[in-house]
Amino acid sequence: MSENYDVIIIGSGAGGGTLAHALAKSGKRILLLERGDFLPREMDNWDPKPVFVDGKYISKDTWFDRDGKAFQPQVHYFVGGATKLYGAALYRLRPQDFEEIKHVSGISPAWPLSFDDFEPWYSKAEQLYQVHGNGGEDPTEGHRSEPYPWPAVSHEPRLQQISDDLAKGGYHPFHAPCGILLDEADRPRSTCIRCAWCDGYPCLVHAKSDAEVIAVRPLLGRPNVTLLTGAEVTKLETDSSGRTVTGVVVSRNGEREVYRSDIVAISAGAANSAKILLNSASDAHPNGLANGSDQVGRNYMFHNSRTVAAVSTEKNDTIYQKTLGINDFYFPTKDYEYPAGNIQMVGKSNAEAMRGEKPDLTWFAPEWSLTDVAKHSVDWWLTTEDLPIPENRVTTDRDGQIHVAYAHTNLEEHDRLFEELKKILNHAGMAAHHVWRKNFYPGMDIALAGCAHQAGTCRFGTDPAASVLDVNCKAHELDNLYVVDTSFFPSIGAVNPALTAIANALRVGDHILGRMA
Ligand SMILES: Cc1cc2nc3c(=O)[nH]c(=O)nc-3n(C[C@H](O)[C@H](O)[C@H](O)COP(=O)(O)OP(=O)(O)OC[C@H]3O[C@@H](n4cnc5c(N)ncnc54)[C@H](O)[C@@H]3O)c2cc1C
Ligand code: SF4
Repeated sequence: MSENYDVIIIGSGAGGGTLAHALAKSGKRILLLERGDFLPREMDNWDPKPVFVDGKYISKDTWFDRDGKAFQPQVHYFVGGATKLYGAALYRLRPQDFEEIKHVSGISPAWPLSFDDFEPWYSKAEQLYQVHGNGGEDPTEGHRSEPYPWPAVSHEPRLQQISDDLAKGGYHPFHAPCGILLDEADRPRSTCIRCAWCDGYPCLVHAKSDAEVIAVRPLLGRPNVTLLTGAEVTKLETDSSGRTVTGVVVSRNGEREVYRSDIVAISAGAANSAKILLNSASDAHPNGLANGSDQVGRNYMFHNSRTVAAVSTEKNDTIYQKTLGINDFYFPTKDYEYPAGNIQMVGKSNAEAMRGEKPDLTWFAPEWSLTDVAKHSVDWWLTTEDLPIPENRVTTDRDGQIHVAYAHTNLEEHDRLFEELKKILNHAGMAAHHVWRKNFYPGMDIALAGCAHQAGTCRFGTDPAASVLDVNCKAHELDNLYVVDTSFFPSIGAVNPALTAIANALRVGDHILGRMA
C-alpha cells in the first residue's frame, strides 16, 4: 500500500499526540501511526492487582541489558503512549536546568535554548493539558507569563498537616502541578472524581490529562487526520542522497505497508525512536539514519528514582496523594555542594499492590498486617538527575532488538536526597526507622526496567558532530525528518519529563506549521 500525506507522525504519546494536535488545525493531511491500540476501558483500569501485580498494561517487549540479560521494560503501547499510565505530575524544568550544572559525577550540559525560549511553550502546554497549580509557591520555579489555568489541587487533611509541619520546620512545600480534569468548585460536574487510582493506572473515566484524552481524541473525525493503530514502524527509507525520507515502512496485521509524506516526525519514545533510526541504516547512512555523529541512542537517561513509604502510628486517609512537592534540595545547599533533586508524592499505597512487593512486615511492627501498613503509610517519590554519558546507550542487535547499556551516575546525590527526606519525616512526625523503600514496579527486579522517564537518545544541539537534531528538532543530516519526543533532551533535570516533551512538541509544531505555510 502507498499513500501520500503532508506529515507522518510516528507514536501518539506526549510528543507525537501533542504534535498532531498542534498541526491538525492547518488542514494539512496528517497520518498518525501508533503501534498500540486504544487502551480498553474496563474495571481492571482501577484494580491494583491487574495493573501493578500482573502488569496488564505493560508491553510484552523484551529488551536486553549490557550483559545480554533479557528484561521486560515498563513501556506502554497505546494511543496516548506512556501518558495513559502516568502520574500527570506536570512540572516545568527550572531555568538552571537549561544551563550547565556541576554534579558529583560530572557535568549536566547546557541546552542550546534557554528557559526563556521554552517559557511561552510551557504556558501553552499547561493551558492545553489543563494543569492545576499555584504559581509562585515553589521557590525554585522560573518566571511564568501566564498563571496556571486551574488552581492547585487541594491537600487532603493528612497532607495539609504534613505541609504545615514542614513549613514550620523551615522547608518550602508547595502544591504540585497536576494534570487532572478536576473542578473542585463544582464536584458534581467535575470529570475527575478524585480517586486513588491515578498514578500508574489508566483513568477509567478519561479524566486524566493524557495525550489520548487531550490531544488525540479531539482530532478523531477530522477529515485531514488519520490515526492508524496497530501500525508499528520498522524502518524509514530515504532517497539515494540520504537527505530525504521517502518511505515509512510499517508492519500492520502481519503485512508490510509503506506510507509517504513530505515531513516525518518520530515520537516513539526515547528507546524506540533510536531503534527505528538505528534499524534504518543504508548506504547513505551506514551507522543508522541521521547518525553521522554516532550520537543516536547515546546519552540515555531515565532518572535516579525511588519510592519510599513512611509509616507512622497516625492513619493516612488520603485518597489522591499527589498534591505536595518539595524542592528545597533541588539546588546545592549550604550543607551540600551538589543538587540532590525533587521530592514529591506518589499514589497512595494499598495492600493489594504491596502484596506484589512482598515486604518484610516484621520490620515495621510485628503485629501489623499489610492492610494496617498501607493505611498508615505516606508515600514519597524521590528524583535525582542522572547524567547524559555517551556509554549509556541504546543499540540494536542483528534482529533489530533493543539493548540498553547503562551505568548509574549521581548516586551519592540520590542517597543524600533520601537522607534529607528522613530528616523531613522527623519534622512531620514520622520517625526515620519506619521508612521503607518500595518498588514502584513490582515484579520488575532490574532497575533498567523502570524506564518510565527515558530520554536523551537523539539530543538536540547546534553542533552536527555532537548532536542528532538541530534546535528545531530536525535531524541535522536530513531535510524532512524530526524527532519530537523525550529523545531530544540534552539533560533531564530532576523533575518529571512529560510537560517538557509536550511544550517542545508545541514549539516544533509551530516551526513545522511555518515551514508548510
Ligand atoms: C507509570 C508512569 C508514570 C509516569 N508519571 C509521570 C508523571 O507523573 N509526570 C511526567 O511528567 N511524566 C511521567 N511519566 C513519563 C511520561 O509518561 C513520559 O515522559 C512521556 O509520556 C514521554 O513521551 P514520549 O512522547 O517521549 O513517549 P510516549 O508517551 O511513550 O509515546 C511513545 C508512543 O510511540 C508508540 N510507539 C513506539 N514504538 C513505535 C513504533 N515502532 N511505531 C509506531 N508507534 C510506536 C508507543 O506505543 C507510544 O504510544 C510516567 C510514565 C510512566 C510509565
Ligand atoms: S484521580 Fe481523577 S484523573 Fe486520576 S484516575 Fe481518578 S478520576 Fe481519573
